[in-house]
Amino acid sequence: MLADMLCGAIGCIGFSWAASPACTELETVMMDWLGKMLELPEAFLAGKAGEGGGVIQGSASEATLVALLAARTKIIRQLQAASPELTQAAIMEKLVAYTSDQAHSSVERAGLIGGIKLKALPSDDNFSMRASALQEALERDKAAGLIPFFVVVTLGTTSCCSFDNLLEVGPICNQEGIWLHIDAAYAGSAFICPEFRYLLNGVEFADSFNFNPHKWLLVNFDCSAMWVKKRTDLTDAFNMDPVYLKHSHQGSGLITDYRHWQIPLGRRFRSLKMWFVFRMYGVKGLQAYIRKHVELSHEFESLVRQDPRFEICTEVILGLVCFRLKGSNQLNETLLQRINSAKKIHLVPCCLRDKFVLRFAVCARTVQSAHVQLAWEHIRDLASSVLRAEKE
Ligand code: PLP
Repeated sequence: MLADMLCGAIGCIGFSWAASPACTELETVMMDWLGKMLELPEAFLAGKAGEGGGVIQGSASEATLVALLAARTKIIRQLQAASPELTQAAIMEKLVAYTSDQAHSSVERAGLIGGIKLKALPSDDNFSMRASALQEALERDKAAGLIPFFVVVTLGTTSCCSFDNLLEVGPICNQEGIWLHIDAAYAGSAFICPEFRYLLNGVEFADSFNFNPHKWLLVNFDCSAMWVKKRTDLTDAFNMDPVYLKHSHQGSGLITDYRHWQIPLGRRFRSLKMWFVFRMYGVKGLQAYIRKHVELSHEFESLVRQDPRFEICTEVILGLVCFRLKGSNQLNETLLQRINSAKKIHLVPCCLRDKFVLRFAVCARTVQSAHVQLAWEHIRDLASSVLRAEKE
């Protein structure tokens, strides 16, 4: 919060590198620090002479849109280089992108804004995108004359925190020359813990990767971390150089102008928030924070499992527990309505296939075991009264 105030007090609007060198340079360094915490492949880091790098976007929605637009420009230029007679409109008509039926609505929205057909592939029984679904769609669409160019994989879906199979989908994208974007908006923060890093295995196949430190890494909104393997994929797509933004270091190859990496021109000094948080907590402190939440979600899971009236709906991996009363959707909708109208705790539901499911998300900074115990007692009591009313 202090960093955010400082950012406002400095009055920095980092239009270009020259407008505030510190705003740019600290962002590059912070994104490399965070990239190293996640053990991202070197290719994603700006380092000394890398081709990749990180940028702070405002949201995961923006990151997906930026990736989709960059991928769109890249494929259009590639196809036009091979066949100059092809118009942009003729290519656009044939482009097709894929995600899973569990992806966040912002992915569909990116397709809508980018004017791209986006297909939601059916996920498997664990709500995960698998190779077979992608292969099938690619074969069918290529045979119909379409051009697949972009895939969004989700690590930690919004509904139930499921994980698409990156190790299966990644190699297919690479073989087919398809841009692979990873949306790990919520779950990405957990990958700083070695025991959860396996969930990011296969990131080496991706062209871009994004998660929101403002969701689960103690950085205030907004701070959405995005890395690309080849920064020229972004800068070539979004480069504009009007006279009023020219500065003497431009084109020297020594500086970064983040205005070419994003949709807006102006930008806030958001990396200050990362610097404050990283220096205050340290990697160990941040890992402890994530571990505590995951521990508490398992504590809640075991309480639910001890009550035979309830069922756990999906594997609990991070801080989210999907559960429901055994019985009809109506019963669970009534329970949710009772919980939320009592206003002691608040739960957001989801639908998994045809089942109405309650979601218990551990996410408050100061949460303790006592809060989880109290929440469970409260849910259990309301469930008893809902079940009693049903019998009467
Ligand atoms: N992707 C996933 C998996 C999410 O869970 C969310 C938000 O909950 C988003 C994207 C959108 O995030 P943002 O608000 O940063 O655009």
